[in-house]
Amino acid sequence: MTVRTRFAPSPTGFMHLGGLRTALYTYLFTKKQGGTFILRIEDTDLERFVPGATEIIYDTLRDCGVLWDEGPDVGGDFGPYIQSQRKELYLPYAKRLVEQGDAYYCFCTKEEIEERRAQAQARGETFKYDKHCLHLSKEEVQRRLDAGQPYVIRQNVPLTGNSDFDDLVFGHIQAPNETLDDMVLIKQDGMPTYNFANVVDDHLMGITHVIRGMEYLSSTPKYNLLYKAFGWEIPQYIHLTTVMKDQHQKLSKRNGDAYYSDFIEKGYLKEALVNYIVLLGWNPGDDREFFTLEELKQAFDVSGLSKSPAIFDVNKLRWFNAEYIRRMSPEAFNRAALPWYEKAGVAAMNQDILQRILQPRVELFSELPAMVDFLTAMPEFDNSLYAHKKMKTTPESAKETLLGLQPLLEAQDPWTEEGVHDLLIGYAQKTGLKNGQVMWPLRVAITGKPVTPGGAVEAAVLLGKQETLARLARSLERL
Ligand code: GLU
Repeated sequence: MTVRTRFAPSPTGFMHLGGLRTALYTYLFTKKQGGTFILRIEDTDLERFVPGATEIIYDTLRDCGVLWDEGPDVGGDFGPYIQSQRKELYLPYAKRLVEQGDAYYCFCTKEEIEERRAQAQARGETFKYDKHCLHLSKEEVQRRLDAGQPYVIRQNVPLTGNSDFDDLVFGHIQAPNETLDDMVLIKQDGMPTYNFANVVDDHLMGITHVIRGMEYLSSTPKYNLLYKAFGWEIPQYIHLTTVMKDQHQKLSKRNGDAYYSDFIEKGYLKEALVNYIVLLGWNPGDDREFFTLEELKQAFDVSGLSKSPAIFDVNKLRWFNAEYIRRMSPEAFNRAALPWYEKAGVAAMNQDILQRILQPRVELFSELPAMVDFLTAMPEFDNSLYAHKKMKTTPESAKETLLGLQPLLEAQDPWTEEGVHDLLIGYAQKTGLKNGQVMWPLRVAITGKPVTPGGAVEAAVLLGKQETLARLARSLERL
């Protein structure tokens, strides 16, 4: 059997991390088996449709290397792969079920159903649709259809029996039919519901394994009844636990921790994000933590999927990100950092030095501008900053040191790291000061900060001779 799977998102907004994880698991599972991975856009629920959301799905998947073998843009023998372009296809299937007695026309209005729901609740019962219209005679149904009365088509779930099934993650799932609802298959506007289109398309597209979020676990018995009614083969199911913020809360739009784009904007690397997301709820079976997508294709196995909710730990993601940054080549680091250099106004400065001082320190690219802000604007600082306990420097000693340095710096040529470094060390030797007793005052005088990535030499070269001397002169004035 060739494995055929699909990722079937509804374009309702940005790409949720949970959705991205489903896509990744589906892709990895399929590639490991040498199967075909399909992208299908489930956009029949027009009320929830958000313009632009489909493009976000394409871009995010491509960005992460999750490439579909069949689907929108790339085509395939089972298209179209966008459900709204297939909309004529579903009604005949629903009518077939009506003829077989596995579905029926329902003319109940929303208000009528609400009233009966309220009555049931008043009696302390949980309401499910009461098969009211199942009992209309064939003639009555035809009369109403001819009169143009609005209708939906509902699944006719048997009142007895069971629709148990086995899930590859959750094991045996019990489902007495009496607990299942007669769900709507075709809506009043003639469009299929997500539930119906999903089953019809999974069959027509030859899907062998359905991988999706566990919120669909409870609907799956109803889908299986549809497969049976059509005489279609039921696919294998792999349901995935929900990605949670903690035991109780889901990741949410409001907290800014739900979407792929939230994290990219905050400066996370997509490779780190993909690696971390895959490990959320999947255990490789050993202690290994770092995987490229290629390596994941080899390593992934359904047996490692967990049944307990996956808790998204942003600190752990941050740690992953820092590790990924450390492992980048200097060139790759500068390439990834460039938009942030631009944001910080330091893109024109010496990128070798920037890379050397920043790559070991940055955990998140978004931290970068604040780390180098002193390069574009001298911060206000208090002269007490010159006092360093261990180095035994004071504002007074700093003034003397800096006054001695000033003409030497003015004369320094070339203005390179080596040149400036040798000058400072030579000055320390000549005056009998410790290196730090020279470096510290100078760094304070030209950066205004107690902590900077890199020291006085790096700061001086990044700033350039002119700016360094200007800052030094201003700081001396203030002393
Ligand atoms: N369109 C559904 C969603 O976005 C897909 C569910 C499924 O994969 O069956 O949640």
